[in-house]
Amino acid sequence: MKRPTRIAFISEHASPVAVLGSTDAGGQNVYVDAVSRQLARRGYLVDIFTRREDASAAEVVNWAPGVRVINLVAGPAAPLPKDELWPWMPVFRRNFLQFMVRDGARYDLLHAHFWMSGWVTLGLRRLLNIPAVQLFHALGATKRRHQGSADTSPPERMAVEREIVREMDRIIAQCPAERRELQDDYAADPNSITVVPGGTNCDMFQPVPHAEARQRIGLQGNEFTIVYVGRMLPRKDVRNVVRALAILSHQSDLPMRMLVVGGESADPDPATTPEIGVLRQLAAELGVADRVLFYGKRQPEVLRYFYGAGDVAVTTPWYEPFGLTPLEAMACGRPVVGSAVGGLSHTIHDGVTGLLVPPRSPERLAASLHYLLTHPEQRIAMGYAARARVEREFTWPTVAQRTATLYESLLAERRQRLETGLLTRELGGD
Ligand code: UDP
Repeated sequence: MKRPTRIAFISEHASPVAVLGSTDAGGQNVYVDAVSRQLARRGYLVDIFTRREDASAAEVVNWAPGVRVINLVAGPAAPLPKDELWPWMPVFRRNFLQFMVRDGARYDLLHAHFWMSGWVTLGLRRLLNIPAVQLFHALGATKRRHQGSADTSPPERMAVEREIVREMDRIIAQCPAERRELQDDYAADPNSITVVPGGTNCDMFQPVPHAEARQRIGLQGNEFTIVYVGRMLPRKDVRNVVRALAILSHQSDLPMRMLVVGGESADPDPATTPEIGVLRQLAAELGVADRVLFYGKRQPEVLRYFYGAGDVAVTTPWYEPFGLTPLEAMACGRPVVGSAVGGLSHTIHDGVTGLLVPPRSPERLAASLHYLLTHPEQRIAMGYAARARVEREFTWPTVAQRTATLYESLLAERRQRLETGLLTRELGGD
């Protein structure tokens, strides 16, 4: 019988085990979790290598059928900001190899997530002589462009990313905008890029009627409700949404409110999540403090009640490599107003499943929200179209199927090279 194909996912800072919604735990954790499980359902064995953040965590965790999480020692066994992990990457790589020897695992293909994992993987690729795939999740050049001096990435980041782009067997871009950035900012060969958009879980994220959803989260009243779910980072620009809410509430007498879900703790605590303090103060200055309700971080299983409680979901980041939360809201049958950047331009079908607006423009956002506020039928139609679009194009099984197709073509290429003896010659064998 054919031995199952073994894949090593390298995801230095984003473990599927992490609690979501906090500073460094977001879409990448969800992605690695969901795609590994779906690949395993297709018959692959997946080991996810991540940095050990907790001294009590076992080295090997049987995470799901066919999926293990391997916690590698690399620096202190405590949470560290991801921008402080770079110096620990040589140790991470060494411990990967030592684990392989101890465990006896033989990998057929490496799949790196984020740039530091990419660096680790380039070295492993050379040593193990197996194909390697890169998915960046975020690009340093884009971050630098938008965050300028506030960008705390190590200075080596972009040079390392360029090397990864040059050397990896294939780069997965999550949307056409990322492909363009790879070509424009990193001179990537278009043939080395495969676009595989991210997905969401259509069972976990399901439409829930307003009344039921509102009751589940203890929300009274029937006013127009805007919902934001996501990490509480300045670049997500929740401030823009608060400003738009203030404009809208001056334009219309209709009652309205905004729910804000995310943060470092389950309580919306400005001490642990400073952005919540900033937003509260802004809402107070703009006279809408009583209309903005903060919930803190919530687990994915209950998020459908928050999305479902909303009439519309909003996310207007300055930039967004892909963005899972809009897909989640769409899967819950809610229209999304999002900024026309990165992945959002691809996932939100403007005028059909939601509305696209320019980033950093509370006026334009308020105008779009006003349209949805005053057109309930459009809102409902967009919600239906949103769910249908996600079911059609953005499910995790589809992501895994496209990823598997890519793996198989790389593995077939390698087999062919081996058979024709090319590899032997490259290694100096004849
Ligand atoms: N999330 C969560 N609980 C929260 C806030 C966010 O589970 O309180 C999840 C959210 O559902 C989504 C992920 O964190 O799956 C955020 O991913 P996204 O791609 O939207 O943004 P990123 O955090 O990667 O920038």
